[in-house]
Amino acid sequence: MEIAKRLDGKALATKIQQELAEKIATSQAKIGRPPGLAVLMVGDNPASATYVRNKEKACTKVGIASYGRHFPSQTSQAEIEAEIEKLNQNDRVDGILVQLPLPEHLDAIALLHKIAPDKDADGLHPVNLGKLVREEPGLRSCTPAGVMRLLEEYKIPLIGKQAVVIGRSILVGKPMALMLLEANATVIIAHSSTQDLKTITQNADILVVAVGIPNLITAEMVKPGAVVVDVGINRVTNNSGKSRLVGDIDFAAITNVAEYVTPVPGGVGPMTVAMLLQNTVSSYLRNL
Ligand code: NAD
Repeated sequence: MEIAKRLDGKALATKIQQELAEKIATSQAKIGRPPGLAVLMVGDNPASATYVRNKEKACTKVGIASYGRHFPSQTSQAEIEAEIEKLNQNDRVDGILVQLPLPEHLDAIALLHKIAPDKDADGLHPVNLGKLVREEPGLRSCTPAGVMRLLEEYKIPLIGKQAVVIGRSILVGKPMALMLLEANATVIIAHSSTQDLKTITQNADILVVAVGIPNLITAEMVKPGAVVVDVGINRVTNNSGKSRLVGDIDFAAITNVAEYVTPVPGGVGPMTVAMLLQNTVSSYLRNL
């Protein structure tokens, strides 16, 4: 019997975008300009192109001006660094991000270090990650911040709960674990070297999966009544050659065990974009 309720990221992202649009509308006269976000893309990775398009569409919807640039794949490190420097100095730009992955000859970390920390819309600059570790206010990484906002919206209790995060990337797993810790959950991080994953996940009240392997988490691995957040995005192709997006969990089976579950698509993905817009607007509102 299907018992799990959906954590509807798509609906919440729409609500957040409406709130941001209202905030922008009321602040614009005082600040004298709309907020600005620059998404920098290098090369022709098709998945990246879709993500960038979605981000720019969302910007237009809420009233954020786009200052993005699309560079050819052979662009040099120096050229992109010079562009970041210009955007750092540009008073109309509140947020800057470099869409990953980059072509092999480019050093993504060095580019990230170039972004002014107060314009770091992705919340991945070491200064902002350091603020997260210290539990100081700062720009937070979008995907884990989106997960936290989703859990808050559905009033999921976190204090003293067992939270298990699978994945330890700097983009998702690590900041996710820190945010759950900040919310006073008891946090375990599992990863590629973890042994007996099932024993660990079976104790999770909150299970966040951010790996990139379809069906990694089966129903037997989930505690009855758990909250399961599926961050994974994987494109799979069926026998007739049709492709679709799935997450990291056996969604159909887990809906019979969990109390709450996020769908893919429509769960964490839209929340990531909403948090990117929110970070940009919060940098913008510092001008008031
Ligand atoms: P990553 O490849 O950097 O990290 C994957 C992590 O999974 C690693 O820390 C690794 O230790 C762990 N791992 C690998 N195999 C494992 C296993 N068998 N058991 C347990 N842990 C294992 O990936 P990432 O950037 O953190 O992204 C993870 C997934 O989330 C991907 O599918 C990505 O597409 C997706 N993602 C989604 C969003 C979103 O907005 N929904 C945003 C970012 C990433």
